[in-house]
Amino acid sequence: MDYHIIDTTPPYGVYDTVAITADTFAEAAQQARAIARKRHQEQADEIGQTVRVHMIIQDRTFEERKIAEPVHPNPPPCTAKRHSWEHVLSPSFGEGVLHIHRCTQCGIYRARNTWATDPQDGTPGHVAISYWKAGKPYTET
Ligand SMILES: [Zn+2]
Repeated sequence: MDYHIIDTTPPYGVYDTVAITADTFAEAAQQARAIARKRHQEQADEIGQTVRVHMIIQDRTFEERKIAEPVHPNPPPCTAKRHSWEHVLSPSFGEGVLHIHRCTQCGIYRARNTWATDPQDGTPGHVAISYWKAGKPYTET
């Protein structure tokens, strides 16, 4: 069966569709998640933050399912061979925790937020990862 995957995640628009073939909605969703990671990994790496990719999966009868797939950034390169993460602090807020680590080699910070808000639909409770350089303040997304 033919499905259309519509990527509604900025900077892509609602008319940006990909045609795929799958037997079921579940299989189409699996393909959509792989496409989401492939399309948005560079974006996540560039901004150093998790991108929650929203997609609409539509079959030929225009029945729709919506999915959201988190695409986490890869760590930026280290000045040493590899990052050596040391724990800085883990403040709790709301129902989540913000785990902050710093690389002892290059000074880059990493935050793992266990209660991030999805910027597109406003739902809370998602895992988001951010990287930023020393001296640059952490910004909530
Ligand atoms: Zn490092």
